[in-house]
Amino acid sequence: MSSEKVTHLLTRLNAKISNVQKIPGGGNVGVLSFEDICIGLAKIRNRAASELILAKWLGYDSQIVESELRDLLSLIAHKEKWNFQKEETIGRLAALAIDEEIVPRKCSKCVGRGSYIKQTLRVDCDKCDGKGVLKRNLSEKARYLGVTRSVFTKTWDKRHRRAGMILAEWESLALRVLSDALFRD
Ligand SMILES: [Zn+2]
Repeated sequence: MSSEKVTHLLTRLNAKISNVQKIPGGGNVGVLSFEDICIGLAKIRNRAASELILAKWLGYDSQIVESELRDLLSLIAHKEKWNFQKEETIGRLAALAIDEEIVPRKCSKCVGRGSYIKQTLRVDCDKCDGKGVLKRNLSEKARYLGVTRSVFTKTWDKRHRRAGMILAEWESLALRVLSDALFRD
């Protein structure tokens, strides 16, 4: 784990903590060590949640998050009797959600920065609306799953959003554990 990646994680973590009005009491981000981070990560008991942190913030391979998500979606699909043609579409659904939420594609125009220099001015990137990442539109998502656009809109769009919500829950669980471990008392 490079120090640059650790700094990136801490910056993100700290921003999230401020967002939920949970200011680290007297703790200083700058003095946290690599060991602190490892101990924090080890405290996350949910495997998918800790792997998600590694994949999203530290750039590790997301195979485990993807397989955990696929298994959970498959369970939900059978329990709720989702109607679908091929079992593999559930796997594609998991891969799509990971692709969108965990390792989004960097915008090629601004190389993920959200802005670029035009003549001498820095301007917001018009290709990604300043977000730095490219999101798929409905047709592209449908193609990714191997269904038609109308089938996607009617059936898979809400399943896709549900998959995104599961990832968001894992992330917030991991953040809670990490912030407790890193910024206690
Ligand atoms: Zn861009």
